[in-house]
Amino acid sequence: MIDFQPISPLQRTWLLELGLERAFLARLPQAQPGGQSAPVAAPAQEAAAAMQTAQPVERHLNDAGSPSPSAPAAATDAMSARDQALAVLRKSGARPVAAAPVEEVVQRPAVLIQPEKAQDMASLLEQVQACQECGLHTGRAQVVFGSELLSEPDWMIIGEAPGTSDDRSAKPFDGKAGLLLQAMLNSAIPNASVYKTHLVKCRPLGNRPPTQEELAACRAFLDAQIRLVQPRRLLAVGHLAAVALSGRDEDLETLRGQALTYTDAQGRSLPLVVTYHPASLLLRPQHKANAWRDLSLLRELQNQP
Ligand code: SF4
Repeated sequence: MIDFQPISPLQRTWLLELGLERAFLARLPQAQPGGQSAPVAAPAQEAAAAMQTAQPVERHLNDAGSPSPSAPAAATDAMSARDQALAVLRKSGARPVAAAPVEEVVQRPAVLIQPEKAQDMASLLEQVQACQECGLHTGRAQVVFGSELLSEPDWMIIGEAPGTSDDRSAKPFDGKAGLLLQAMLNSAIPNASVYKTHLVKCRPLGNRPPTQEELAACRAFLDAQIRLVQPRRLLAVGHLAAVALSGRDEDLETLRGQALTYTDAQGRSLPLVVTYHPASLLLRPQHKANAWRDLSLLRELQNQP
């Protein structure tokens, strides 16, 4: 066990300044003016004694903060006390405590989820990226908002939900089904401008269809997208998109093959065509003939003024 020499209040002040903890200093014996060591003082009493002893040194500074002519002797005393303090430190093996780094707290402004108030696509995208309105946010790698923005495209194409490739690339209809869809569009309406998105913006795990709750949670984003993109017509691919946009709870075969209507919250209407989802055409190629008829309807509408 180390046998500590008594230290003076001034030495304690130095040790505190060097970073030693008060609890450690409180355990050291205190030197008396006559050279006797005193019982260990409580930390508050020690600090007060140290302050009293330190004040005469401070009084050697003039109003400008410079040492007065009597300062050198006091400064020498102080340096001697500091040397003694360092000697105590070396003997005890204690090290000054480094100041804890100040953590930088990054405050990000909260994003309000109010799609109906979004004034532009950038703010709507920001809301979608922050959205946790349904459980799908837990399985997404990234949100799949929409394809490259076009203002007033000829067609807005709306599928059900992002697939695995979409989730990786953040692009809707990315993958084999998307390639087939693009080939169909190129052949039917080669000069048309199109904007693609899905009913929900986050991928359901296992590529399952989104539930009614998930569709309802995400619907305001889709309606806001349609309002901001201002497409001339809509193409719904797949049964869920067909029902969601037409508002008619009927099977796909009943809904396809005709020009339907999408009506927004403000009562504005857009022509709506319904067809198979390209992923289902990959599984059931026998539907391609019917899909071609749907595309002929697209071309017909495209050619109308
Ligand atoms: Fe939000 Fe839509 Fe994603 Fe659900 S699917 S978390 S509602 S953005």
